[in-house]
Amino acid sequence: MAFFGSHAVEIEHAASAAIDMLEREIAARRCLEQVVREQALVLTAASDGIARLDDECRWREVNGGLAALLDDDATALDGRSWLASIHAEDREQARAAFTAAQGTESASVELRLLRRDGSTVPARVTLIPVPPGPETAAHYCVVRDLTDRRRAEEEVRLTLREAEASSRANGEFVAHMSHEIRTPLAGIIGMTELALGTALSTEQRGYLETAMASADALCQLVNDILDLSKIEARKLDLEAVPFDLREMLGETMRVLALQAHQKGLELACDVPATVCQTLVGDPGRLRQIVTNLVGNAIKFTERGEVVVRVTTAIDPGERVTLHFAVADTGIGIAPEKHRTIFEAFTQAHASTARQHGGTGLGLAISMQLVEMMGGRMWVDSVVGKGSTFHFTARFDVPAACTRAALPVPVSLAGLPVLVADDNATQRRILAELLRSWRMEPVVVADGAAACEAVARAQRDECPFALMVVDAGMPDVDGFTVAARLRALPGAAPATIMLLRATSAGVDGAR
Ligand code: ADP
Repeated sequence: MAFFGSHAVEIEHAASAAIDMLEREIAARRCLEQVVREQALVLTAASDGIARLDDECRWREVNGGLAALLDDDATALDGRSWLASIHAEDREQARAAFTAAQGTESASVELRLLRRDGSTVPARVTLIPVPPGPETAAHYCVVRDLTDRRRAEEEVRLTLREAEASSRANGEFVAHMSHEIRTPLAGIIGMTELALGTALSTEQRGYLETAMASADALCQLVNDILDLSKIEARKLDLEAVPFDLREMLGETMRVLALQAHQKGLELACDVPATVCQTLVGDPGRLRQIVTNLVGNAIKFTERGEVVVRVTTAIDPGERVTLHFAVADTGIGIAPEKHRTIFEAFTQAHASTARQHGGTGLGLAISMQLVEMMGGRMWVDSVVGKGSTFHFTARFDVPAACTRAALPVPVSLAGLPVLVADDNATQRRILAELLRSWRMEPVVVADGAAACEAVARAQRDECPFALMVVDAGMPDVDGFTVAARLRALPGAAPATIMLLRATSAGVDGAR
């Protein structure tokens, strides 16, 4: 009885444990079913298309969003090939994305889906691999309709295109008008010039000179507007012709030297021998940029110097990028204006703009030209100390061009040369140039030191073969120095080269 009694209790315990387990199992299942129901709700309500792809790439568990996107029935889609719903031309991409979505990596691809009626719909398809379970591996596929985004992109593209076309038409109109204005303007300038060449009273000459200056200013303005509108209408093409950099800079500086020396400014150009001699590019436009920068430097400098330096920035072989720097010791530009001065019609010194003249277009044009030459332009400046305008530009180098810029005549090597110039920059540039020709320059800053150096050289029996003397030194000018040097006892018949600020003037004969 006791035996039966204890057995019955055991059975009762076991039954109760089994019932507990069953209840827990049922609760867990209910929970799972609830999750599945909620997931199904989310899948149904989601606007994105969501489905599972089985291991044979067939649609499974297609949600309403995807059925709507494909304009089909979810049950009809079930079991249908995934690739059959993709535009034939995009299937390769789709296969690649499927292969890429492995392990923990999902993959996305933009492609065209095929709807039931054969029309296409742009979509972004994301494939998410499901870790292999007891059955087979599968992917989840999330599909987002890109129709609205594509429409918006197209609208932006159209608006941009229209804006571009209208700005180009505007530019073309201005370019045309500027050209039309230049023709009669040339007539006014030409006739005024002729009239100025005739016998006139002082009063009449004054009137005509004012007319001439105004016509010149108008001509400059029209030229600038023409350039700017040509650039904006993309009608300006750069030339690609071989040119000699030093020759081009020399000519440009000669024209500007007159203006500089009228203001008592030193003007120097420093192109080291390492910079390529022959370049392929647009010498006319390069000259326009240099003229603008040097012209501004002279305009905004009352004392000191304006120096143009050219160095090689990048030189990979057949293309070279040069760095040009135009430094002045003028009024400088406030930091907040360093950017705006490159905008059209902007001047940094509004209060003195009238006195300095100008249109505020020069830098805007130069900057655009520099960009067309594959470079950029910027400024360093300290108010009251001066400004340095920098720009880079890319040029081709002719295949046959000698990289060592200037040929060095053998006969010059080791030749002693005297350089006398009161300007430190000029002394440095001249000395560097002479050294690059392997000559041996002795550099002095004034006439008295020049005479001493010559006397010393004669005593040492190592006389100068060449003396390069600045004609315009302040204390004893070059002509006096030359006369004194010639008069030194036992002076050898050396060549004395006088450097003049400008080629024009009455001293030419002397
Ligand atoms: P413009 O000289 O015809 O006014 P730019 O575009 O060449 O037009 O120059 C714009 C402005 O930038 C000038 O008006 C001047 O205020 C400033 N600027 C240009 N170069 C210099 C310089 N070297 N020193 C000081 N200010 C300068």
